[in-house]
Amino acid sequence: MAGTIGFIGLGNMGGPMAANLVKAGYTVRGFDLAPASLETARGEGVAIAASALEAAAGAETVITMLPAGRHVVEVWTQLAEAVPDGTLLIDSSTVDVESARKSHALARGRGCLSVDAPVSGGTGGARGATLTFMAGGSDEAFARAEPILKRMGKNVFHCGADGAGQAAKICNNMILGISMIGVSEAFALGEKLGLSHQALYDVASVSSGQCWSLTSYCPVPGPVPTSPANNGYKPGFAAALMLKDLRLAQAAALASGAATPLGAEAAQVYGLFDGLGHGDEDFSAIIRMLRGAKGA
Ligand code: NAD
Repeated sequence: MAGTIGFIGLGNMGGPMAANLVKAGYTVRGFDLAPASLETARGEGVAIAASALEAAAGAETVITMLPAGRHVVEVWTQLAEAVPDGTLLIDSSTVDVESARKSHALARGRGCLSVDAPVSGGTGGARGATLTFMAGGSDEAFARAEPILKRMGKNVFHCGADGAGQAAKICNNMILGISMIGVSEAFALGEKLGLSHQALYDVASVSSGQCWSLTSYCPVPGPVPTSPANNGYKPGFAAALMLKDLRLAQAAALASGAATPLGAEAAQVYGLFDGLGHGDEDFSAIIRMLRGAKGA
């Protein structure tokens, strides 16, 4: 008997995640503000509710997958006041650490258990149930959340106390943003020096320049056939989402007093790219702007 889950936010990520919970045998009651998302979810076996509170009624666990911190705090404020003691609230959105901690405090103040559990793996990971979850919260809350998260993802990590999942997410994505710019600059320089993409790839992929942005997500077509560069830079992971995460990292750096000069630079570079109208391209398309290519 798998139990009942309320799922709020059935967009590009939440929709397929809720569908995987249905496949795993849970009764899932979903809510979203967008009628189109509701219809798609209904087709996947999600029971549609008329509000967030209706989705949560009678559920042992409620999951939110929303755009930003303010949406999560707003929905959790309603939920914490309405759901019974002992209900588990999980937020898998990517939000600022401060909003995550505020949400935990709201939940705890009302006798709920809570976990911040942002994801990496994108929409493909959401569909294939291969997401990586980075979780923050008490041991008790994590122990209850883990079996549910494992139905939507392949790797589930308990990173620490309240907000630690969001902290891990933005630190990881700051590495990713900086490394993608680094790899792209190296290919752009190699081109000017007459070096073929394959030659640079062959050397760097087994040398000290090796990193995920090079070997799994190479920003030029050819060396890694599955990378978005081979598919017109269709996301993948959109540049606008990378910018969002880099800005969250900068907000956290400012609040905590951490020096992140390259993270700040990466946020500026992606801000420029987004401002030029490229936010819906894959984030590896940044190489086009760094080349100074026409149209980039
Ligand atoms: P999305 O915009 O497709 O979905 C968000 C959904 O939330 C929308 O359908 C919207 O109608 C709904 N919504 C907003 N406010 C609501 C409210 N008050 N009540 C009910 N529904 C509400 O976004 P997404 O791509 O699914 O991303 C969700 C979260 O996951 C974001 O925080 C994003 O940063 C994060 N994320 C996305 C990806 C990705 O590749 N798309 C990868 C990792 C993490």
